[in-house]
Amino acid sequence: MSGDRLFDLVERIGALLRSELRRLGAPHGLEPVHLQALAYLARANRYSDTPIAVAEFLGLTKGNVSQRLIALEKAGLLRRRPDRDDARVVHLVPTAKAQTLLEALSPPPAWRTATAAVAGDQEGVETALATLLSALQGANGRRTFGQCRSCRFLQRKDGAFTCGLTHDPLEPDHTLRLCREHEPAA
Ligand code: SF4
Repeated sequence: MSGDRLFDLVERIGALLRSELRRLGAPHGLEPVHLQALAYLARANRYSDTPIAVAEFLGLTKGNVSQRLIALEKAGLLRRRPDRDDARVVHLVPTAKAQTLLEALSPPPAWRTATAAVAGDQEGVETALATLLSALQGANGRRTFGQCRSCRFLQRKDGAFTCGLTHDPLEPDHTLRLCREHEPAA
């Protein structure tokens, strides 16, 4: 497949998904970016659930994201939790109401139906798209926001995980979350 054809397909899929998120979010007073921020925070680890990380993940300015986060708090979808060790750091936590909304809308039901069409080759599609995403992030100098299992800082010893960057022990479920500090293993 040519690069141009691939670009057309990915761009069209992105536009359709944004349109679907807009349609689904409207009855709740939410724009696609609100749902994308909540979906990110529901998967982010404790180093990555901050306003600056949301801005970086979505490719938006801090000011823009700040307004979106305030709206989510007012809607009862997000709460702020102070960091235990650093008073300057605030963690953003989706509420139970937000989790229920995400289960229904993100990914959109139409996406779940559509991906069933490639169920037999889903692994191949995922690998190709992940490679494409990684190449784009590298070309643009963007953070990769990956999981520990593909990070060069992950250390394993006697079945336990440690982050080699922060030197914190990592619970197994923490290693499956998205991390702002992730750097791909060689
Ligand atoms: S090992 Fe990598 S991905 Fe995992 S917490 Fe540490 S920096 Fe983040």
